[in-house]
Amino acid sequence: MKITILGAGAMGSLFGGRFAQAGLDVQLLDVNQEHIDAINHTGLHLDLDDGQYTIRLPALRPEEATDIADLLIVFTKTFHTRVALAAAQHLIDDSTHVLSVQNGLGNLERIADFVPHGRIIIGMTDSPADFLGPGRVASHGRSRTTLMLADGQKTPFLDKVHGAFEAAGVVTIIDPDVWVGIWEKVAFNVALNAICGITRATPGTLVQSSASLALANAVASEACAAARANQVNVDEDRVHSTIEKSCHEHANHKPSMLQDLLAGRRTEVDSLNGAVVERAKQVGMEAPLNEMLYRLVKLAEMA
Ligand code: NAD
Repeated sequence: MKITILGAGAMGSLFGGRFAQAGLDVQLLDVNQEHIDAINHTGLHLDLDDGQYTIRLPALRPEEATDIADLLIVFTKTFHTRVALAAAQHLIDDSTHVLSVQNGLGNLERIADFVPHGRIIIGMTDSPADFLGPGRVASHGRSRTTLMLADGQKTPFLDKVHGAFEAAGVVTIIDPDVWVGIWEKVAFNVALNAICGITRATPGTLVQSSASLALANAVASEACAAARANQVNVDEDRVHSTIEKSCHEHANHKPSMLQDLLAGRRTEVDSLNGAVVERAKQVGMEAPLNEMLYRLVKLAEMA
């Protein structure tokens, strides 16, 4: 199976590196030339719980790649998915499957502009990864990844993909209820990412105030209500306890939206709070807390 990773930042490099370590045929595609050059000259350096590794695998720009992918994994930020897939269209034929475990909502719709649902694998990962600099990525802590074909079918190819993830040491399950995990992670992210992003508070600070924790839970509950109204049966209590647990366990971790705002980068708020507001509106509901956070993050992006 030829695996192509489209978008090889923190997550793409982590997954690509682990596939290469397991002896799978994988290449990394990215537009960050410094990162590409570092990987090709000195290898990809992964700092993992079980050790530090230097892995040799090819990295190149999408337009330089020629091999048709059996499995193309999109790991750009969500707002780059369409432009990245458009530049990689020559690597997709009518048997290529495209996989996304990117955060947020709308990933399926964006990919469906390029391949039909029967060849889209959708899912969720709570694997953490940090981009340390060109050619260097770190990932620490346990994680779980869920996958399912977008049309709900179980096929031999899906089993093959599952086998590849497991061979690479990525704990993965084929989950017919994949949307529950996707929406529960969205509910978690719209609360912690947006609140920490705007206030500059870390999760450890947020959890010190019961009023702040209650606010985070209310934002998450609103997303859970939108999920249920969209026929996705999320477990709201589980989301609340994940928020509280994560605030204690990752007290000093800066959520990605906070990192992005501090660095003056665009955030993924459109596919998080913005998408929750949109999905709520589609079923005649309001999501005022998410709408306010969405507008505040958009304003902070401009500041
Ligand atoms: P990142 O910014 O580290 O990596 C994105 C990469 O995409 C960058 O290297 C960038 O150069 C590349 N890129 C941008 N435009 C491109 C294009 N047109 N063609 C090819 N490559 C392009 O982001 P990340 O942290 O790896 O996150 C990727 C996705 O995974 C996001 O949706 C994120 O929400 C999700 N995610 C991240 C984590 C995490 O801990 N980092 C965990 C779970 C899910």
